[in-house]
Amino acid sequence: MTDDSPLVRVEHVVREYPVGAWNVRGHPRVVHAVSDVSLSLRRGRTVGLVGESGCGKSTLGRLVVGLERPTSGVVRFDGVDIRGGTRAQRRTARRELQLMFQDPYGSLDPRMNIGSIIAEPLVVQRQGARKERRERVLHLLAEVGLPASAISRYPSEFSGGQRQRLGLARALALNPQVIVADEPVSALDVSVRSQILNLMLDLQVAHELTYLVISHDLTTLRYIADEIGVMYLGKLVEWGPSAALFQNAVHPYTRALIGAIPVAEPPSGRRRQSTAVRGEVPSPVEPPSGCRFRTRCPRAESICAEVEPPLRDFDAGHAAACHFPLRDPVTAAPAMTRKESA
Ligand code: ADP
Ligand code: MG
Repeated sequence: MTDDSPLVRVEHVVREYPVGAWNVRGHPRVVHAVSDVSLSLRRGRTVGLVGESGCGKSTLGRLVVGLERPTSGVVRFDGVDIRGGTRAQRRTARRELQLMFQDPYGSLDPRMNIGSIIAEPLVVQRQGARKERRERVLHLLAEVGLPASAISRYPSEFSGGQRQRLGLARALALNPQVIVADEPVSALDVSVRSQILNLMLDLQVAHELTYLVISHDLTTLRYIADEIGVMYLGKLVEWGPSAALFQNAVHPYTRALIGAIPVAEPPSGRRRQSTAVRGEVPSPVEPPSGCRFRTRCPRAESICAEVEPPLRDFDAGHAAACHFPLRDPVTAAPAMTRKESA
């Protein structure tokens, strides 16, 4: 494999959850959490995933690290299906793909001390004797900028930012190649967010980490992501290099998300709840026909209810799924024809 080949490939991944009820046709009803999403993570790079709450971002994150089985489709690490392959391959995937949890309060067991929390993945994967594990934990604490004395303390004794450092140390314990960070800074004050993001960037360089960073906040992703995927109701509706997406969004949903970014963060550092788009995300149990965004889209016409728009290319590596994009897609016509029409 060349260095360019994606380290992780998400191929047509679907994840549905039964909701314990039946629809009018007698079929079991399901939550369409992730609906046919494909994307790639390239080595040492960062992909950001954005979208409103309930659009399937966390589900996709759990699928990427193998904590959940796709209803259909496949996630490949280094070419190998992370839930297929041999036992040894599955074990490798479990080690190489780590999730950094969203909520440090919820994910860190309050009764475990920091040493045990960080060492837990090592114990689970039976790595090292007790003494080596302790040395590894001390090394990890230093890497994330925490004092060695933290080892015998408890999560409640730490601030939000420090707990995210602990979450990072734990995610790093097995020396993974890929870290999926689910809302890594959403719970933090603005003043602390950039510290954690900078630490993530430093660790990325030091360990050649590949990141999938999930956030409902585009400002965070603008800071850290090379490429951004926009999710709406389980679908990837736009994908592109970070700069292209901000300068030249083509999907009305992406445009609305960008338009909702506050011009300046409020000085108090408190989060302002901005409503990205008018109305609410419809139920993922019965998503709208055709384009799922059409019920909230200012550009929607009748075709949007009838035909699901495919992802089409707009620039190199920049694609969107919309019948009425904010600018024209690249046509499949030969170059000459395109030049003539220009
Ligand atoms: P996001 O992270 O973008 O907010 P999620 O992936 O958490 O979105 O959720 C997507 C949808 O899937 C939501 O409607 C959510 O309620 C549903 N969902 C997520 N996990 C489960 C589960 N384990 N069982 C049932 N429904 C779930
Ligand atoms: Mg989430």
